[in-house]
Amino acid sequence: MNNRTILAQEIIDTCLTMTKLGLNQGTAGNVSARYQEGFLITPTGIAYEQLTPESIVYVDADGHHESDKLPSSEWRFHQVVYQHRPDVAAVVHNHAVNCAAVSILNRDIPAIHYMIASAGGNTIPCVPYATFGSKQLSQNIAQYVDKRKALLLQHHGLLCYEVNLAKALWLANEIEVLANLYLKLLSVTDDVPILDDEEIATVLEKFTTYGLRIEE
Ligand code: 13P
Ligand code: ZN
Repeated sequence: MNNRTILAQEIIDTCLTMTKLGLNQGTAGNVSARYQEGFLITPTGIAYEQLTPESIVYVDADGHHESDKLPSSEWRFHQVVYQHRPDVAAVVHNHAVNCAAVSILNRDIPAIHYMIASAGGNTIPCVPYATFGSKQLSQNIAQYVDKRKALLLQHHGLLCYEVNLAKALWLANEIEVLANLYLKLLSVTDDVPILDDEEIATVLEKFTTYGLRIEE
């Protein structure tokens, strides 16, 4: 197998695990990985179970895709992430139920738990709504992409990105747990206790050497 086929298969495996973890439904969501000058991304509207490495689409640095395939409708925001974040090599987007629910309330997830720092700060911000697949949505995301590694998309779901696919999926799962926790807390009180910025700074420092470890 060549490098492209291996990476394409890793994208498919990430999609299948995302569904298995309950982070996604049907054809919602999309996954990509940096490749050459652009990225490889899931095609639009095809159930993950039907994907083969040949279905995965290459989008180049100018946003042109292979002519015989159609990339995810959200290829623009994946491109924005790769353009703004040289440290990022994988992007995961889903409609995880708890993340989508918090996004509908148009709330940032605050520092309710130290794991908030896994996204690189003391909140998971909620990016203002724009139509899926639109240039406006990618422009809205561009305003936040340098601040965190995970963002809620208002009335939509979650976007997160990391150095590789395994870490991006791990992060997506962590944020869904936080969103679930936040909704539970909101059902009890609107005055949810949060960790202060000093403690989050301490945890952020620890997270430079802590997190998902992958056996080589
Ligand atoms: P695609 O099937 O085009 O990737 O769309 C899914 C989605 O989540 C749109 O926001
Ligand atoms: Zn979506």
